[in-house]
Amino acid sequence: MPAPYTPAMSDSIFSKIIRGEIPCHRVYEDDLTLAFLDVNPIAPGHTLVVPKEPAVTIDELSDDSAAAIGRVLPRISRAVMKVTGAAATNILQNNGSLAHQAVPHVHFHIIPKTDSHGLGIKWNAEPLDGDAGAEMGRKLARLL
Ligand code: AMP
Repeated sequence: MPAPYTPAMSDSIFSKIIRGEIPCHRVYEDDLTLAFLDVNPIAPGHTLVVPKEPAVTIDELSDDSAAAIGRVLPRISRAVMKVTGAAATNILQNNGSLAHQAVPHVHFHIIPKTDSHGLGIKWNAEPLDGDAGAEMGRKLARLL
């Protein structure tokens, strides 16, 4: 019989923050999520929203934690925008060191975007080939 699927768990610096072992500038907390200011912000108000569940990457996160994060992201974004005066934001979520994930605990960055601060994006887009797109779409839909 195959081993049961066990998501990767982390005891990173964010778990220590969640347990109150390391200080943070907390801006929001509920049973399943915590939000606090990024210690090295790329814009004033740069906020991290984390599930308390210690999943390493988004694909490991439970539906309940994902729903809890999805519920609070808009509300926290509104607060960040109101306080900073930024009219635009980027929500960034990195998975894996190749994708620039430094802390192995799922987290969403809320980054205000202004003329002077915020996320720079290099977007290497290429037109989607019709046949390859159809094949890719079919493969993905089959799994979902
Ligand atoms: P990422 O590259 O997506 O893994 O981003 C990790 C983020 O966590 C970075 O923006 C760091 O500045 C931030 N960070 C790391 N340690 C702390 C901490 N103790 N408190 C707040 N933010 C942190």
